[in-house]
Amino acid sequence: MTEDSISIFRPATADEKANFVEIGKKNSLDIFLGKLANTQQEYQREYKPFCTHCARVDFEKKIRDVAAEYNSSNPDVGVSGVFKFEEFKKYGDMTRFELVDTKDTREEKLVDRIRNVVIIGKEYTFKCKVRGCGLTVFVPNEDLPKMEALLNKDTKKKE
Ligand SMILES: [Zn+2]
Repeated sequence: MTEDSISIFRPATADEKANFVEIGKKNSLDIFLGKLANTQQEYQREYKPFCTHCARVDFEKKIRDVAAEYNSSNPDVGVSGVFKFEEFKKYGDMTRFELVDTKDTREEKLVDRIRNVVIIGKEYTFKCKVRGCGLTVFVPNEDLPKMEALLNKDTKKKE
């Protein structure tokens, strides 16, 4: 059994619990969703797309897998599974996404008492290649270089 094994057959220590959630344990979905929301916010701050939909679907699938394993095993066999929070990385991996659209974000502003439409930033629409989930990231004007850097890095990776 390797270190990355997802099966544990003993209660996790507090240290370990900071890094994963035990599937099927009481509140495991709540713990997962809380950590998911935090992770999404971290990505959002950096304007990185993050597919929460896939993360949730995969987690629910894991719960079903663990439950099925539990139901088909001898009750004396401790069936357990864990979701490691580092697995969240793959839901925010730029290679997971395809940029499908960009458009200016406009806002009405009062300039010298005249109503003006100004461009305040850009919306980047991505498609998650795994399940086709669509997600949009808004980037204000001042942070557009950050997004461009992110997209260029991704292009370079492909070459
Ligand atoms: Zn997805």
